[in-house]
Amino acid sequence: MKTLEQVRASLKPYPIEVEFPDIRRWKEGTDGVDYVHSFDSGVAGPHVMIMALTHGNEVSGAITVDAFLARELRPRRGRLTLAFGNVEAYHRFDPQNIDATRYLDEDMNRVWLPGKLDGELDSIELRRARQLRPVVDTVDLLLDIHSMHEEAPPVMMCGAQRKGIDFAATLGVPQTVVVDAGHPNGRRLRDYEGFNDPSSARNALLIETGQHFSRRSRQVALDTAARFLVTTGTVSPEDVVEFINTQTPQPQRFLEVTDPVVADSMDFSFVDDFRGLELIEQKGTVIARDGDTDLVTPHDHCVLVQPSLRHLGVGVTVVRLAKILDVAPERLSF
Ligand SMILES: [Zn+2]
Repeated sequence: MKTLEQVRASLKPYPIEVEFPDIRRWKEGTDGVDYVHSFDSGVAGPHVMIMALTHGNEVSGAITVDAFLARELRPRRGRLTLAFGNVEAYHRFDPQNIDATRYLDEDMNRVWLPGKLDGELDSIELRRARQLRPVVDTVDLLLDIHSMHEEAPPVMMCGAQRKGIDFAATLGVPQTVVVDAGHPNGRRLRDYEGFNDPSSARNALLIETGQHFSRRSRQVALDTAARFLVTTGTVSPEDVVEFINTQTPQPQRFLEVTDPVVADSMDFSFVDDFRGLELIEQKGTVIARDGDTDLVTPHDHCVLVQPSLRHLGVGVTVVRLAKILDVAPERLSF
């Protein structure tokens, strides 16, 4: 039986191409919550939030929020909140053990259930989520910035509701949008309360910018977040022009997760060096082996979403299988 350390040792390490900003200068928040900065324009409009570091080693979001704060970006309408999530994990990042500080006690992107937040359990991540919750409770439109274990094109995770698809389409980037209901072992910030309620006007997106430590991931994070603020009417294009990629975005395609694949053993391996968004044409194609079992694609035109063994464990999702959706999204106005 392989250990997680053995599995990780067999995977190709990625270079750290970006600098980790020193975010301690942003510790004192504007409203009494550390690392949360909120600015009110005084003009009617939505409360828009950009969240970085829901996962402590996903630095592209930290680079973006740090840059927007340093730029002294302020909303022209509504309210803008720029926040760093799991700062304790971020501060403990170890370049020799790059996967270790995704979280410290538990995954902060699985705790966003009112029953859990109100409950008796305690962890570093629950404490932080409880600090953030009063702010999150007043947010209308959220962008939660994440990155990926493997180098792959960026994907927008828009949740399971139609309003999420429309929000991703209104934003227009990135090229690939994934419709998914989250994870069975907890609730993501993106799916918290009204964000996942079809009758609520609140809406949220989760961007996976690319591999955690790549320059491209940083560019995607800055570009997506800047476009998010323009799209929501929070800032004018000229306020964020230096962050926006000048290339015209590609037409979007929409995928829907059909099957999360959960490892049953530590002897799980993919049959190829999958990194993400590979298209497997034929139903029944073997994509992985789990112990003695072959895993096959359940349908034709199957797309692999975020395959990775860097957090392999029994019961851990190691890839999600998706189909290509035929949808005609509507443009939202805010
Ligand atoms: Zn993440």
